[in-house]
Amino acid sequence: MENVIILGTGCAGFTAGIYTARANLNPLIIEGKQPGGQLTTTSEVENFPGFPDGVDGYMLMDSLRKQALKFGARVKNSYIDEVDFSSDTKILRSGNDEMEAKTVIISTGAAPRLLGIPGEMEMYGGKGVTTCATCDGAFYRDMDVVVVGGGDSACEEALFLTRFCSSVTLIHRRNSLRASKIMAERVLAHDKIKVQWNSVLEEILAGEDEKVRAVRIGNLEGKEPFDLDCKGVFIAIGHTPNTKPFEGILDLDENGYLLPSEGSMVKTSIPGIYVAGDCADHVYRQAITAAGMGCQAAIEAERWLAEQS
Ligand code: NAP
Repeated sequence: MENVIILGTGCAGFTAGIYTARANLNPLIIEGKQPGGQLTTTSEVENFPGFPDGVDGYMLMDSLRKQALKFGARVKNSYIDEVDFSSDTKILRSGNDEMEAKTVIISTGAAPRLLGIPGEMEMYGGKGVTTCATCDGAFYRDMDVVVVGGGDSACEEALFLTRFCSSVTLIHRRNSLRASKIMAERVLAHDKIKVQWNSVLEEILAGEDEKVRAVRIGNLEGKEPFDLDCKGVFIAIGHTPNTKPFEGILDLDENGYLLPSEGSMVKTSIPGIYVAGDCADHVYRQAITAAGMGCQAAIEAERWLAEQS
């Protein structure tokens, strides 16, 4: 029986690993389908405190991993597809493999939705296609960019990008924005933002440097597609939290995000089960906030275990 099993190896998971390992809990961290989490798909991270010159996303995650291992955390390459939290012994299953734990920290992250169009994966993460303006916006200073989507995220990203970019073209498949009224109004009133209504991105085109050169925009009302020059493509069509194994077991919101209990960011309705990071946070979604939640969850787990013994 493990003291604590941590699900996920993003910022939240490894931070929980560092804290629980330093508390002598000998944590077991389950790696998940994307070892290192979303930051491993980012080239440079400039907003993680402590790195005045920025840090490569992969290097940052590798450092967190080493820090957790240094204090005795163990990492197992596995993916949990089923859980049973109905008794004091928490059971986690991966195929025929079964693990038992006294406490579980769920930090399984969320995956940004992508469009599945030509050029997207080829230029994702460092070559002009990204899903995070807060992370990457500053790299597009004085450049033309496009944002895809019509929700609050797309509007927020578009507005944020106006601080750096020469122009922002918002591409949305409908003729009105789904975003909250105030966000939509700000976007529509901004002189740097132009909206292409009833439009979809058909292809992302590369230049000779293999980075984004332009996008091909298709029209859903039958008009001819056209190419628009740009250096950055920000895809903001929502995220899918990795929470399927917890459906019907823990509280989820209508979009599938884990809902912490009232008055806490990391406790759940089941004692000994904690949440941390993007699987339970659709508002901030930052590496540093995920790390902060990982720390909180680890401290809660440690206290709960101390109370039980
Ligand atoms: P969202 O509300 O689900 O919006 C996703 C947008 O992407 C929609 O406009 C949708 O189009 C479009 N879309 C989805 N799939 C697409 C595809 N394959 N191709 C083209 N367009 C596609 O997601 P979100 O904006 O990330 O927001 C998620 C939640 O977080 C919401 O509850 C939102 O209010 C909240 N949020 C709040 C804030 C804030 O308050 N500051 C900021 C960000 C997010 P359709 O409109 O046609 O469906």
